[in-house]
Amino acid sequence: MRRQRPTLIAVSTLIAVTLTTAPTPANAAPSDQVTALTAHQADGYTTLAWQPVDGATDYQIERTPVDADNTPTGAPTIVGIWRPNRQINQHAPTFADAGYNPGDTFQWRVRARTGTTEQSYSDPVTATTTAPWGNPTTPGEQLRTGWETTHAAQYTTDTDEYAYTAAIDALSDRVRVVELGRTVQNRPINMMVIGHPTPAATPEAVAATAPVAINCNVHGNEPGDREACLIMARQLAFSTDPRITDLLSHTTVLIVPTINGDGRANNTRGNSTGQDLNRDYSLIRQPETTAYITMVRDYRPVAGYDGHEFGNSRAGDLPMLPPRHQNVAQPIFDQSQDMIEGHMYAKGAEAGWWACPYGCEGGGNVGLSEETILRNTLGLKNVTNSLLELRSSGGQTRPDEGNTTNNRRRKTYSALWTFHQFLDYHRADRADILKARSEAIETQAANTGRLVFRGSRPIPAHPAPHPGDSPPPLDAPPADLILDNPPCAYKLTDAQYNGARTDGPGGVGTTVAQRIAAHGWKVITIGDDHYIPLNQPERGLIPLLLDGKGVEKLTDGERVYPTLTGRRNGPLAVTGFTCADDATINGPVTVRAGAALVTTATTISGPLTAAGAAGILLADSTINGPVRIATTGTISIIDATIAGPVDLSGNTTGTDAPVLAGTTIRGPLNCTGNNPTPHNLGIANTVHGPRTTQCAAL
Ligand SMILES: [Zn+2]
Repeated sequence: MRRQRPTLIAVSTLIAVTLTTAPTPANAAPSDQVTALTAHQADGYTTLAWQPVDGATDYQIERTPVDADNTPTGAPTIVGIWRPNRQINQHAPTFADAGYNPGDTFQWRVRARTGTTEQSYSDPVTATTTAPWGNPTTPGEQLRTGWETTHAAQYTTDTDEYAYTAAIDALSDRVRVVELGRTVQNRPINMMVIGHPTPAATPEAVAATAPVAINCNVHGNEPGDREACLIMARQLAFSTDPRITDLLSHTTVLIVPTINGDGRANNTRGNSTGQDLNRDYSLIRQPETTAYITMVRDYRPVAGYDGHEFGNSRAGDLPMLPPRHQNVAQPIFDQSQDMIEGHMYAKGAEAGWWACPYGCEGGGNVGLSEETILRNTLGLKNVTNSLLELRSSGGQTRPDEGNTTNNRRRKTYSALWTFHQFLDYHRADRADILKARSEAIETQAANTGRLVFRGSRPIPAHPAPHPGDSPPPLDAPPADLILDNPPCAYKLTDAQYNGARTDGPGGVGTTVAQRIAAHGWKVITIGDDHYIPLNQPERGLIPLLLDGKGVEKLTDGERVYPTLTGRRNGPLAVTGFTCADDATINGPVTVRAGAALVTTATTISGPLTAAGAAGILLADSTINGPVRIATTGTISIIDATIAGPVDLSGNTTGTDAPVLAGTTIRGPLNCTGNNPTPHNLGIANTVHGPRTTQCAAL
């Protein structure tokens, strides 16, 4: 098929950002010669763009170092092969050349190949590349990582990282460094909390800004993204670019440059116990994963990226993948796919990076549904997110990366590009991301539909043409790992809940109770029994850890099914653990002291009173009367409709803040004397009457 010519818009855009363009003779070029070559400079890479040649099989990109007088100082080298499977549009080919020392000056030429026949080179383009970010004489900006100062000969060491991070913290009002925890070998796990003019003061205040989280270097021997995390932190901390200050004025950026500090220091995939941390984010047996998951609970990022490197030399520069597990709510899967396929593929085609689905081009049995992988764990926590893989070798398309430093620079600067694009996507699509999150939380809390214990949604292949490409494996759930009739809750014995465990470092593990607390799930304790209801935001993750069918579970909880269904007339006094699903209760309901009520798809004529209850969790339910809750137990009201008034006062619930989210109250809302203060998970409530101080912002 004949390839389309570039559009006028595409050409003018590229020319507008070109630093140096050699004149193109009006009529001299043979039809098989590349014309209109341009070179646009960005952080650590150069976007080369040209007019395509009819019938070209691929293109070779040649780079020659030159001095200030444009005299070559080294041999010309083929540094890139452009193949038609690397971008979604073929009419405007682009190639992100990277790997060179930033700040040096080069000449580029591009030629087409037809089969193995090399056509004439384009006229050359010469330009000086962009130096490492930050004025070398401006405090703060002048900071450099160990990787930058050694020109990528060495990765930044752990001590260099801590010094660099502390310097940014000290010199920038925008940055607060918090220690999330310590590794097994007692290295700090730092997170940079970045906002403009200053970051919000507390995790809860940060959560209110719809923050984004970038996790780097979970596999210690995959450090390319870590260097990007460190460079990006400096840019965000000190840049006066209006784009950066605008981004940081609208959200908070959370950067964990090294989640696996021990693995990095020892250049191992796993942590110091040998555990692959990216197979532990649900089980949280290790201190590193516990630190990250606790952060997610407290800061509630709405979007995330998780950086890696991978060894397939045939596939893309930047394979990405959304949370695929089938228990991830559809809106989160869709939004993550929109970020990857809608944004990253399109922007990658503009910048010249080759983004594609992880597992593409014979990538093997990767990118599956394990909930232990952060990509899936975050999806199950209603976070729009993606995996990022940096191709570890140059492969066929980057033939000059036998040089180690060239290879390292391409990986790091392609990660830096991705993370900046991630921030731009969040800025542009924030409303959609938040809507997806709200819908996902309400869908999860409604506890409807089947559960699968393993199994992924299909991922489409990179858009055609993509010769040799293939989508990641299908990974459909086997029949014996599907549960069509979800329980209302899991019941754990006290031995299961509080018993000692041996699955952590040194044979000592945290208890199930501690891990459930780190995930942030609500638990109802009655006597020696501990109930974890499924009408919660992380409904899809709970069974994977607590059901006997869980493939990598914590314990075999007992499935508890609803006891109240259908129509019931007259007053109801709730004792023990009572679960209502698809029920209509015509009469007042009183939850007795020490008892608990869990509802989904249920209507109560009301009033509903719970004084001293062990817990009350209402989701997707309607109360046609007043509600009064005063307890030391757990409280969650999600996506309910209440005639009101609602009185939520005097609740002292330890560290477990009451949740009131996505609920319509057709009367006054009184919240006083609650400790901690109720919160809304970022999903606003609609209250028709007045509301008192503690719930004024809910
Ligand atoms: Zn990895």
